[in-house]
Amino acid sequence: VVAVAMGTEEESFSPSEEETERWMCSAFDMAKDALENGEVPVGCLMVYNDQVVGKGRNEVNETRNATRHAEMVALDQLLDWCRRSNLDVSSVCKRTALYVTVEPCIMCAAALRLSNIPVVVYGCRNERFGGCGSVLDVSSADLPHTGNTFKCVSGHRAEEAVEMLKSFYKQENPNGRLFFLFLCCPGWAGLSSSSSGGGAYPCPHRQERRSLTFDFI
Ligand SMILES: [Zn+2]
Repeated sequence: VVAVAMGTEEESFSPSEEETERWMCSAFDMAKDALENGEVPVGCLMVYNDQVVGKGRNEVNETRNATRHAEMVALDQLLDWCRRSNLDVSSVCKRTALYVTVEPCIMCAAALRLSNIPVVVYGCRNERFGGCGSVLDVSSADLPHTGNTFKCVSGHRAEEAVEMLKSFYKQENPNGRLFFLFLCCPGWAGLSSSSSGGGAYPCPHRQERRSLTFDFI
């Protein structure tokens, strides 16, 4: 079920069903690749004029950098693509749609907004960190000098996106309540698979992290 979550400012383009189907398929492939490589399974594509100008999946554990979310990786690629193509970044961004398997978190939603990406198509909601309505409405809030609001289309293959996340957390910690580490300390994410508790690790986010449980399960 695909539902238009928000979008009062109708843009001149909106992804068709066919486009959504096609590009989300690739985004899911990226998410699968993340899962196979021990990362939270989130994948995305940025599409401009029917061509992929950026693609990414979570690289948080691999890079030990908590900001390397799929969307940030794809945004970097978009910037490189613009440089190589000698095209103006803001004109490209204004005509670029993001297809991502999970609702962008607050950080990524802010980055997308500052980049003036007008449309985001996503799979499942991100109950703990979602920046497109689940936690904060970064996508639609009236915030001065922070780029433009963007439209969200949610729900495409949502169950599948949730299943992938569940698989990840099952393999990480088969016994207990599972911690949702999108935004948390990547070092802890690596350690969590071999330990029953996270209390001993010196992480500045520990207090918040310990209260963060994965709501999809
Ligand atoms: Zn993010």
